[in-house]
Amino acid sequence: MTEEKPLDFAREITGRLGGETITRCYQCGTCASACPVTKTTERYNPRQVIRLALLGQRNDVLKGDAIWLCASCYNCQERCPQKVEVADVIYALRNMAIRGGNIPAIYTEFAAALMNEGRLAPMSKFLEKKRAEYGLPPLKPANTEALKKILAATGFDKIMFRKEGAT
Ligand code: SF4
Ligand code: SF4
Repeated sequence: MTEEKPLDFAREITGRLGGETITRCYQCGTCASACPVTKTTERYNPRQVIRLALLGQRNDVLKGDAIWLCASCYNCQERCPQKVEVADVIYALRNMAIRGGNIPAIYTEFAAALMNEGRLAPMSKFLEKKRAEYGLPPLKPANTEALKKILAATGFDKIMFRKEGAT
């Protein structure tokens, strides 16, 4: 088995939809200074994510939790002087992580709820009561048959519930 070189990971990212511009980054930090998430936690910094990716730190990037903290607000992308599509790069990295079976449990829960109930947030007695209080009609059970067919046709179910290390 040949050892991966740092640039291999960067090349793989540029070959992904959304990841094309990552190698334009010159680490100025404008994205981080515009990022609302970076302002609230030290666990996330888009410049650092890009740096790690360009250094070939595949596991740190794809198995860490940072890429899941981006709020997709696009502040960074509007401001990057190098026109790096930062938010789209993060999406590309998330897609790569999911393909490798690395996905936070909350997303698989959302996916399961979508497939089984047709909505991301399952209905509960509490929500039903709140709807009634606001004068909203009870929600009818969603018809999930068509949805399941679409999700199966796109491979969504297999991708979302892939185990780590599966190919
Ligand atoms: S603003 Fe652009 S060039 Fe600067 S660190 Fe962020 S991605 Fe890189
Ligand atoms: S899109 Fe993500 S990385 Fe960019 S500023 Fe918003 S939260 Fe930060």
